[in-house]
Amino acid sequence: MSAPLVDDIKQARERIRGFAHTSPTIVSFPLSRLLDADVRLKLECFQDTRAFKVRGAANAILTSRERGDVNHLVTYSTGNHGRATALVGARLGIPTSVVMSNMTTDDKRQALTDMGAELHLVGKSQDEAQAHAMELASRGMTLIDPINDPASTAGHGTIALEIIEQFPEVDTVVVPVSGGALASGVAIALKAERPETRVVAVSMDRGAAMYESLRAGKPVEVPEVESLADCLQGGIGLENDHTFATVRDLIDEFVLVTEQEIGVAMAEAYYVERLILEGAGATPIAAAIKGDRSIFGDHIALIATGGNTTTAKAAAVAEQHRRLLPERFQP
Ligand SMILES: *Cc1c(COP(=O)(O)O)cnc(C)c1O
Repeated sequence: MSAPLVDDIKQARERIRGFAHTSPTIVSFPLSRLLDADVRLKLECFQDTRAFKVRGAANAILTSRERGDVNHLVTYSTGNHGRATALVGARLGIPTSVVMSNMTTDDKRQALTDMGAELHLVGKSQDEAQAHAMELASRGMTLIDPINDPASTAGHGTIALEIIEQFPEVDTVVVPVSGGALASGVAIALKAERPETRVVAVSMDRGAAMYESLRAGKPVEVPEVESLADCLQGGIGLENDHTFATVRDLIDEFVLVTEQEIGVAMAEAYYVERLILEGAGATPIAAAIKGDRSIFGDHIALIATGGNTTTAKAAAVAEQHRRLLPERFQP
């Protein structure tokens, strides 16, 4: 398999209508003043699952269905990809199994069962869950791969098509990176439709698998470190299909942000924008506040990828970082 083309992304846009919303792109006057630029937030935290991953999951599942029988879906992500798969499965009336380790928390389990997914609890690690999911797939279930699926990458790329329409002046798009499917889809669409647009990737400064892989010149594994941006942890797959090469070839800048910078960005979202963002979803705001002006243009879109954290955690992190907000943002 190889990376999708912009035409695949355009087709994905038609295919996923009814599953993913065209999310709002709103102006942030405070961030615009801070950066002396036109800064807007693409609010993917307002998808039904509160994260963008429904775009990729819907495209992957609907594409599989066009190719043949899909009787039962299976995946092994407990996070936003698992929720996205469960939601699309439920909408289509296809039973959906999510395999997870016994270590996962109750709130994650409940979010999935609320959407009608069947949970399979196995072992103590994500690797064991993955192995079990592969086994179920070999017995006839359709695996919806959380990384390495070009159909999913194409689905994520639809975000860029919307940004171009909603914010035609855009010259810089800032996108969080974990496995790199989102950044790949966004970059493929932007470089095809608006080649002069800069794509700025952002990850946390510890345990960023894509960043370390780019430095090494090939996919590598990194130790997992606790982060507020828990959605950005995990590997890119040593057998990485297409996201490594796409990010390497199409991304203009890669910014790393500290835990404190992510906390401050969550506080900015909470007090100033009045938004609850999870750590990963706030990393583009962190990159903006960090404010290396030389890497941004004058019309900047920050993709707020998701809001799946508890309100208690969002409030606690915001309060902890309130005093570190730039002066003009002090609530
Ligand atoms: C999955 C996810 C990301 C990263 O996307 P990749 O395609 O894995 O790079 C960023 N933010 C949120 C909220 C996510 O769920």
